[in-house]
Amino acid sequence: VNSAERTSLVKSVAMCLGFDRVGIARAAPIRRWSSVRDWLDRGFAGSMAYLHRNVHTRRDPAQMLEDAKSIIVVALNYYQRPAPPPSDAVPRGRIARYAWGRDYHDVVRGKLRQLVNELRRELREPFDSRICVDTAPIVEREIAAAAGIGWVGKNTLVLHQDLGSYFFLGEVITTLELVCDQPTADHCGSCTRCLDACPTHAFPQPHVMDASRCISYLTIEHRGEIPSEMHASVGNWIYGCDVCQEVCPFNRRPPQTTETAFSAREPAPSVPLHEIERWTAEDYTKALAGSAMKRANLEMLKRNAAIALANARKEGPAPP
Ligand code: SF4
Ligand code: SF4
Repeated sequence: VNSAERTSLVKSVAMCLGFDRVGIARAAPIRRWSSVRDWLDRGFAGSMAYLHRNVHTRRDPAQMLEDAKSIIVVALNYYQRPAPPPSDAVPRGRIARYAWGRDYHDVVRGKLRQLVNELRRELREPFDSRICVDTAPIVEREIAAAAGIGWVGKNTLVLHQDLGSYFFLGEVITTLELVCDQPTADHCGSCTRCLDACPTHAFPQPHVMDASRCISYLTIEHRGEIPSEMHASVGNWIYGCDVCQEVCPFNRRPPQTTETAFSAREPAPSVPLHEIERWTAEDYTKALAGSAMKRANLEMLKRNAAIALANARKEGPAPP
């Protein structure tokens, strides 16, 4: 089997497993490491100290696996339209789309395991591989761009012309020799919608996000108090924020996901804030079993709900 045949097998198996896009990058240092380094040095990672660790693998993902040659990058669409909101006037907290269904770490990892197993069966040649989904110390968006999955938009997310940006990324770093894809062109052009719409002004410049100001960071990653000057801008988001994706023209009509594991389940897509305020530890565990929302603990969710409730009170009752 030569590299081209192997690559074509990898891609066809990945697509059969339901991934929406698959691309191949060389296992090599990322192209824009200096901007990642600069981002870390400017303190934009906030209190996410783990991002400062394992700098050697972030710069060069090949360091994750001995004799790594290629990185298979997959994209899995999670976009779905929400059901119409209930007609009650109860103040609700919004949940970012990516956390509406089952925990994507499990779903994407499960499919990538199937991909590797299938390749072992079909290829009958020894190879090593390492699966990464979100938590590995690598810069996924840069690897995805190198693999031609899309370009990195001014909102720092990977964008695809047809798919938009509502998709998860996953990688298999492997010793297999595969044919690499070419990066795609950047289609942001003169658009600045995401930069202008961000409620907390988290973009000091295009392609640079100060995570310490981002609602996703504040509501999910940040422990302790959310600075009071940010409260009003957090609005009614209690878990993440989708604003810089919602305004993007490439997300105007994204395809619906076909992955049923991502179908919205309680408490998504929005939850009555009073309910969260009343949650016990048991309610929390029961409500969020198998959900990505468990990254925020109960105390954090209650903190977020209290801020959203105070914002709702300031705004007054919702119009009928
Ligand atoms: S997720 Fe929300 S808060 Fe964060 S950068 Fe995007 S628009 Fe701003
Ligand atoms: S909103 Fe505009 S500038 Fe921002 S990522 Fe989308 S196309 Fe690029």
